[in-house]
Amino acid sequence: NSRKTSSSVLHTPSDSSDVEALNAGINALTSVSSERRSRGHGQLQGLSIAVKDNICTSSLPTTCSSAMLHQYQSPFNATVVRLLRDAGAHIVGKTNCDEFGMGSLNLNSIHGAVVNPFQAQTTSNVPPTQTERRSAGGSSGGSAASVAAGICDAALGTDTGGSVRLPASYCGVVGLKPSYGIISRWGVVSFADSLDCVGILSKSVSTVKRVFDAVAVYDPRDPTAATPDLREKTRPLNSSFLPVTASTHQPRSLEGLRIGVPLEYFPSELDPSLVNVLRAVLRRLGEAGATLTSVTVPATQYTLSAYYVIASAEASSNLARFDSVRYGLRTATLPGATISKSSDVFAYSRSAGLGKEVQKRILLGTYALTADAFDNYFLQAQRIRLHVRRDFDRVFRHPCVLLAEPHPPRDGVDVLLHPSAIRTAPLLDRGEHGSRGGDKAVPGLSEYLQDIMTVPASLAGLPALSVPVGKGADGWPVGVSVVGQWGCDDLVMCVGKAIE
Ligand code: GLN
Repeated sequence: NSRKTSSSVLHTPSDSSDVEALNAGINALTSVSSERRSRGHGQLQGLSIAVKDNICTSSLPTTCSSAMLHQYQSPFNATVVRLLRDAGAHIVGKTNCDEFGMGSLNLNSIHGAVVNPFQAQTTSNVPPTQTERRSAGGSSGGSAASVAAGICDAALGTDTGGSVRLPASYCGVVGLKPSYGIISRWGVVSFADSLDCVGILSKSVSTVKRVFDAVAVYDPRDPTAATPDLREKTRPLNSSFLPVTASTHQPRSLEGLRIGVPLEYFPSELDPSLVNVLRAVLRRLGEAGATLTSVTVPATQYTLSAYYVIASAEASSNLARFDSVRYGLRTATLPGATISKSSDVFAYSRSAGLGKEVQKRILLGTYALTADAFDNYFLQAQRIRLHVRRDFDRVFRHPCVLLAEPHPPRDGVDVLLHPSAIRTAPLLDRGEHGSRGGDKAVPGLSEYLQDIMTVPASLAGLPALSVPVGKGADGWPVGVSVVGQWGCDDLVMCVGKAIE
């Protein structure tokens, strides 16, 4: 396929020193497994997989890229890790990320930023010079970069508001955020648990699908897991209308497929060269028989604000466990302060162990949950979330199986298509991202804006797949997202296959 980067011809390394060599210039991994590749059997036999550092592994540390957990080693494997191992996959290491998953550029990490490996592979194997370094995106930047650099065949990330799809788009790889509740979160360190999803990154949709099939199973240990009954109900939605070739899962024809292009996904901040790439994809799909139509999801304009209120509120509660007693760093000193009561240990440890971005979210989230602010912030955000959900139910032709009485429109669409991001990967060293030395009038806003295309599907819990489809005006990768009704993960991957 001509659109694939030249990195796709690399073979994944067979031992840990090769992995370390590939990782040296990009800082994608936080730890490397010394285990030999197993010769086990199973559906993922022969596949090497890197795991984001907020997913628990018993043989490697789980730091969440935080000083708070810099020495933490879980006594157990997350369900998703156990399933990978049971299926014969080899875990190569843990991947760098924004602290507890909070960020869009992988800048909020005690391990340092991840360097986007894309350019290194298009020209030569020489690492990019300081001035050319671009972000791999976040928060699963290490997962996307390790796939793009050929360190592993696939990687697990987590996606709360876009953390798999955004780095996938920036690094030129495929990234799936599945329907909420389809992959177990047991053993995944919670950021905002009503939004958190384990996602999968790889160079091809078929590898993503292969991993998905191995890990998307009901787990009674995750109270938010979709029940077997619900999973069964989604089966006809995925298979009834798109005839696929059994061996490849490639759609035989797109005849009958209805694709919606949401009008609200073209904000003024969107780089026009990305629109051209999307246009070319739509043209191709139209020629293959798909029907294209524009749709409207009006609540989109409020989603970024609602997301940051809900995610921060949940984070303030979830991160309360890092109190230096049950988990995490413990310090009884802080520069310039003296300890006078035992609660100071709690305060000092959290001040020393949690980074600025995490502290900001905890403060914002705690405020949103106070009696004074609850109605105006938290409840309003939940109302917007409901509107977003309803907007999507009004455009998809498939019923939402989570609803008791769904009324899908007859002329609805099968999937939505939109750019995954507003731009290509930002530079790491020139402060294009506002908050770190940039010249933007509103500090930090630019980093938050990166999620504008991805948060709506997160708020609604929908499956969304970012597929690399071309290059922007600057020659860097551009991803397009396919979004489907809840439970239509297979359909989304099937359409993804048609556009990759
Ligand atoms: N960038 C978003 C945030 O900072 C999304 C992060 C994520 O999906 N984990 O919250």
